[in-house]
Amino acid sequence: MNNETVVIIGAGPAGLSAAHELLQHGVRPIVFEKAEKVGGISRSENFNGYLFDIGGHRFFSKSKKINQLWQETLGENLLKVPRISHIYYNDRFFKYPLHLFNALSNLGIIESFKILISYIKAQIKPFPDEDTFEQWMSNRFGSHLYKTFFETYTEKVWGVPCDQIKADWAAQRINNMSLIGTIYNALFGVQSSKSLIDEFYYPQKGAGMMWQELQKSIESEGGQVLLNSEVTGLSYDNGCITNLTYTQDGNEKKIPIKHIISSTPISHLVSLLNPAVPEKVIEAAGKLSYRAFIIVTLIINKEQLFPDQWIYIHEPGVSVSRIQNFKNWSKAMVPDPDKSLIGMEYFCNENDEIWKMADPELIHFASQELSDLKLTVSGDVIDGRVVRQPKAYPVYNHEYTMHLHTIREFLKSIENLQTIGRNGMYRYNNMDHSMLTGILSAQNIMGSNHDLWAVNEEQEYIEIDKAIKADSVFSEKIIKQTFARMDKFAIATAIGTVSGLLMFLATLWLVIKGGEVVGPNLKLLNQYFLGYTVTVKGAFIALGYSFFWGFLFGWLFAYLRNFSLAFYLFWLKKKTELLSIKDFFDLL
Ligand SMILES: Cc1cc2nc3c(=O)[nH]c(=O)nc-3n(C[C@H](O)[C@H](O)[C@H](O)COP(=O)(O)OP(=O)(O)OC[C@H]3O[C@@H](n4cnc5c(N)ncnc54)[C@H](O)[C@@H]3O)c2cc1C
Repeated sequence: MNNETVVIIGAGPAGLSAAHELLQHGVRPIVFEKAEKVGGISRSENFNGYLFDIGGHRFFSKSKKINQLWQETLGENLLKVPRISHIYYNDRFFKYPLHLFNALSNLGIIESFKILISYIKAQIKPFPDEDTFEQWMSNRFGSHLYKTFFETYTEKVWGVPCDQIKADWAAQRINNMSLIGTIYNALFGVQSSKSLIDEFYYPQKGAGMMWQELQKSIESEGGQVLLNSEVTGLSYDNGCITNLTYTQDGNEKKIPIKHIISSTPISHLVSLLNPAVPEKVIEAAGKLSYRAFIIVTLIINKEQLFPDQWIYIHEPGVSVSRIQNFKNWSKAMVPDPDKSLIGMEYFCNENDEIWKMADPELIHFASQELSDLKLTVSGDVIDGRVVRQPKAYPVYNHEYTMHLHTIREFLKSIENLQTIGRNGMYRYNNMDHSMLTGILSAQNIMGSNHDLWAVNEEQEYIEIDKAIKADSVFSEKIIKQTFARMDKFAIATAIGTVSGLLMFLATLWLVIKGGEVVGPNLKLLNQYFLGYTVTVKGAFIALGYSFFWGFLFGWLFAYLRNFSLAFYLFWLKKKTELLSIKDFFDLL
């Protein structure tokens, strides 16, 4: 293979991971990056020696391969950070992930009571339809708990009222566990697949350190990472991309290519193709929307503001959604130990007022909000810096799957093109899944046949531990058998028949055995079985009575067993539902 012909668009986590993997197989790719540095959304910025991410980036993955790459690249510079985060609401800090007793004691008796009443009400009389996020949440957790902890923040993130967010979105993000999974977890003490993250890894000098180190490693092995190089066109012919055009230092250049891996937003990718793609594909691309993100970093003249790495802001009176405290991610982020670096995070659309605000105005606005929240006093803010990140979040509205499908169907017709990463696939991917798609795309070029669309938040894909999988299949079988409903009539008949026959045979045996006094002990049964004697006739009477009582006992036993199991499952379901919102904001 001619090395120079394998190209990658974008030097974010996905593109760099693809390049690294190709080099493991002896292929030297060229990575085109339009920005002046690598890392994409996961880069770190340097503000007069103070370092910050575009929103703090936790390094957490269930994939061995990804953890290995992080470890190998960063070595001792990869820190293990115990997570501390709170919800800030009503001038109080609530533990996050939510702890019931901490939440209730912070809210006080009256609010806690209202939460309890509205929870009970929701269980007795839920909304008949569950079309919206609001209805979905209220039905499960009660409207008061939902309004206190979930409404404001969710609306800030998505910029639309919760009664306009589809319920499927919540169901997809929260309730991903089957009842079998719930029982399995309860019985075997396994945590939810979307487990709470109590600690995470973090590079000593910010998330961007990982990508800068990976860039160095790629370049040292013979790969090229061309910065300030924007891909502006892709010519295709006969189902293959043949040439790539890019601009570097104001000059346009064109190179022939053999394979291309793209992490540019999929909606942008179709606009790069030449000849122009069919109108319906352009239309579909235009309908994919994104949420943007602004971080206003403020240098604060205080050694410490709060112990958390970040706090969620639930106060409806301010626009800020989350506040990062970068010093608590890694001390090396802040060069002066007497100062702090705070990141005020705003979710918005690209045409919103806040997006268009001038930087000094935004810094003033963010500083004011920080003091309105009583976290600083005037004069604490020394300096500030604004970074705007377009296309930060793909928006999963109710039509996106249809539009994405149209685009994917068309792109399938181009054989030597693969799309990877978060915006490249319009997927809500974290760094690890973005990286995995990059790695697998590289392996595909080397002859593998991975389905990149199968890599998502819930699937470990190649990393899946087959032994555990087999074990859980076995357990699922046992659980299904153990928790199956008992047939009351069948159990009753079986127990009735067995006890009837036992008494019948016992009586007959005593009759056959004979003696001076036949069956003196069994005879006492006639106190319960009216007309019973230890005779052949009595054996038939015993059969009838015993069948009757056995039947009744069996029926009651099956009924109570079904009832208590149903109750246990109901309780387990409610408990799991409540647990599932503990880390809801991690899933947003
Ligand atoms: C606020 C926020 C917080 C997050 N927190 C976490 C977290 O805690 N943990 C986590 O794992 N993930 C987190 N993520 C997700 C993470 O940022 C992404 O998963 C990851 O950056 C995606 O990597 P990528 O390579 O697919 O895309 P990107 O990071 O978007 O990189 C794509 C690159 O392609 C370049 N590019 C695009 N078009 C062209 C072109 N035409 N020519 C040349 N170059 C081009 C871009 O400049 C960019 O550098 C967070 C995201 C956000 C928005």
